[in-house]
Amino acid sequence: MNNKIPVQLRPPRHTKYVYEKLRICKHCLRYTILYDEECPTCGKSGGLISLHSKAAAQVQRSIRNDRLIALLITLVSIFFGRTFQEMALALVAGLLLTGVLIYVQHRIKPQAVSRELNRIFIRDRQQIINGLIANLDWAAAIGKENKALSYEMMREIATLVHDDSIRSLQIMLLQSFVLRKDMDLELEPLLQKRFDPDLVEYIGELSKIKRELIKDKTFRYILKYEQHIASMSRGDEILSGVAAAAVRQKRYCLTYAEFIARYARLLPKERFLRLYRVVNGSPQDDWGALGEEVARIFTEKYQWDADFQQPAIRSNSL
Ligand SMILES: [Zn+2]
Repeated sequence: MNNKIPVQLRPPRHTKYVYEKLRICKHCLRYTILYDEECPTCGKSGGLISLHSKAAAQVQRSIRNDRLIALLITLVSIFFGRTFQEMALALVAGLLLTGVLIYVQHRIKPQAVSRELNRIFIRDRQQIINGLIANLDWAAAIGKENKALSYEMMREIATLVHDDSIRSLQIMLLQSFVLRKDMDLELEPLLQKRFDPDLVEYIGELSKIKRELIKDKTFRYILKYEQHIASMSRGDEILSGVAAAAVRQKRYCLTYAEFIARYARLLPKERFLRLYRVVNGSPQDDWGALGEEVARIFTEKYQWDADFQQPAIRSNSL
């Protein structure tokens, strides 16, 4: 594709829990996961609060009510005291009760907030889903003018909604960008159950610029759809790119030995050299067909190559 656009992507927001990204509008009570300061539904600003603040505020209200009740009990007891001693006793007991209450409330507050969060989640489940659907519509609509922003928004939504159609939309957007090594790209969250040629093209590009993102889950995906990929126009290029990525670790070489053997011949020299050193560095391991294929390619193409005579300087990386 020649019409790819250069973009700057903001790094994803990391929170301990995904739900911490959810906010609710105080004005219209709609949920959103987007970055904006304005509510995407009613357009009012300053009204978005995090779910955690909402739960904490609710807990704070019930704490305050309990303290008021303790204070009221104390005052009533003092009021009904018939002697000065009884009134003093009521005051002391009341203060003690309030003191214990404050101490206990302070200790259990974090648990109370997470219980309240849970309650909100169960109660507002449908509103949260509706909010995310509205977010998704919005992110898709903005894609016409601002693809990078649309992608960032979808990436946020995808942290909470795990769905292949959202992943497809993200990949379509990614495929319209000029991808660079310094970009904050991701792969595993985008893997799908079904075969998606755009995803495969994306994996092919990553194998050139960010092969460290290609790990077990991706190798398994590629193996599952190897036949489909082989019939794509750039199929062999993509498959050998993935094999080249597998060569970076001995563990991958052993686990995916048969797969690598099928594309070893297509590896660029530098990658084949790496594979050659991994295989020859561990003759005790059972390399099977890969061992034979590496020996064959070496004899045919590289046996007089000086680089293959040098011992590896750093063989346990990339
Ligand atoms: Zn609103």
